[in-house]
Amino acid sequence: MRCRACNVELSDYEATLKDTQSDGYFDLCLECLTATRQAVFDSELKGDYNVTKEFQSSTEEPEE
Ligand SMILES: [Zn+2]
Repeated sequence: MRCRACNVELSDYEATLKDTQSDGYFDLCLECLTATRQAVFDSELKGDYNVTKEFQSSTEEPEE
C-alpha cells in the first residue's frame, strides 16, 4: 500500500492507521498525516477566530 498523497510505500504501522471519526483508513504516510492534521488544526483555529469575531460584531450591532 502506498501513500495517497506522496506515493511513498507505507509501513505496516502507517497502513493500519484509521480515522476514528469515519472509521476509514487514512492511507497516508506519517509525514502527510501530520501535515493533514496540522491543516485541520489550523482551520479549527480560524473557525474559532471567526466565531469570536462574529460574536463581537453581533454585540456591537444587535439584530433585534
Ligand atoms: Zn505521504
